[in-house]
Amino acid sequence: MKIAVVGAGAMGCLYGGLLSDVGNQVFLVDVWQEHVDVINQKGLSISGVSGDRRITSIRATTSAMDVGICDLVIIFVKSTATRLAVQHAQPLIGADTLVLTLQNGLGNAEVISESVGEDKVIAGVTAHGSTLLGPGAVRHAGQGPTVIGSLVPRKDNRLEKICTAFQQAGLETVVDDNVMGLIWGKLMANIGINALTAITGLQNGELLQYAETEELLEKAVQEAREVARVKGITIKEEDPVAYVKSVCRKTAENRSSMLQDITRGSRTEIDVINGAIVAEGLRLGVETPVNRVLTLLVRTIEKKPAVQ
Ligand code: NAD
Repeated sequence: MKIAVVGAGAMGCLYGGLLSDVGNQVFLVDVWQEHVDVINQKGLSISGVSGDRRITSIRATTSAMDVGICDLVIIFVKSTATRLAVQHAQPLIGADTLVLTLQNGLGNAEVISESVGEDKVIAGVTAHGSTLLGPGAVRHAGQGPTVIGSLVPRKDNRLEKICTAFQQAGLETVVDDNVMGLIWGKLMANIGINALTAITGLQNGELLQYAETEELLEKAVQEAREVARVKGITIKEEDPVAYVKSVCRKTAENRSSMLQDITRGSRTEIDVINGAIVAEGLRLGVETPVNRVLTLLVRTIEKKPAVQ
C-alpha cells in the first residue's frame, strides 16, 4: 500500500515507521527540515515498547508534490494545524485515496471533510503513546488498540484493507462504525487529564492523589458527558469518570501531551478539547463552568512569556 503520513512527529513516525517496516511504501511529509534530512540520511529510529529498530526503507520530504497520489493519507499534525496540513496534502489525494485522522480532540474529521469530501475520510482513535526524542527519533511509550471507521457507509472494502495493513504492522486494529462515539469516548480522557496536568504540572496518576484535582477531573468529565448526551452521541464508556480515572492509573507516570506542550512553550490542543466542550455546551444550552475555567487558564499559560 502507498501511504503518506502528513505530520511526522511522535505519532506520525510511529505509525509510518511500523507500516514501512512490513513493506508498505511510506512517505513522511513534515515541515521540519532537519527531521526530514536525518530520516533520509540515517533512517528513522523507533525505540521503546515495540522494540528498538532503525527503519531505512522510509522516505521523508517537506513537499507533498514529491510523493504523488497515495492509497492512504494519515493526518497526524496537532489539531491546531489540521486545516493547513490538509491543504499541503492535496497533491497526495486522488479519486481513490482515503484520508485517516487519529488525532485527539473534536473537529478534525470535519475540517478534513470540508477539504476532501466526507466520503474520503476515515477517523478513529488510538491508544498508542509516542514521544519525539529529537530529529529522526521517537520512543514508543505505550501500546493499545486502534479503532477506525468511515464517516459515511461504504460499499467497498478499503477500510478493511487498511485494517489488515495496520494489523500486519503490529498495530492491533478494529473497525467500528460509531466514529463520533469513539472520538467522544477518547475525548473524555483528554478532557479529564490534559488541562489539569498542564495547569498543575502533575503526572497523570497524581491527579488522583489530591482531592481537589480529583474533584475537578470528575466535574469536567461530567460536563462533557452531559454535552455528549444532549448532542445525541453514544459513547461506549458507561461511566466516563471511572474510565478516565482508570486511564490515570494506567498511565500514572505519564506527563500528558498538553503538559509537554506547555513545558516546551508550544501551542496546546485546548481549543479542540475542553474549549470544544465549552463551545458545544453554549450551542446546546449545557452549562460547562469547569471546562470554561480550565480552558481560560490554559490559554493564559500559553500566552504568558516564558520565565528566563
Ligand atoms: P507532534 O507535535 O509530535 O507532531 C506533529 C508534527 O506535525 C510535527 O513534526 C510538526 O513539525 C508537523 N507539522 C506541523 N504543521 C505541519 C504541516 N502544516 N504540514 C506537515 N507537518 C506539519 O504531535 P503528536 O504527539 O504526534 O500528536 C499528533 C496528534 O496525535 C495530536 O492530535 C495528538 O493529540 C494525537 N495523539 C498523540 C499521542 C502521543 O502519544 N503523542 C497519542 C494519541 C494521540
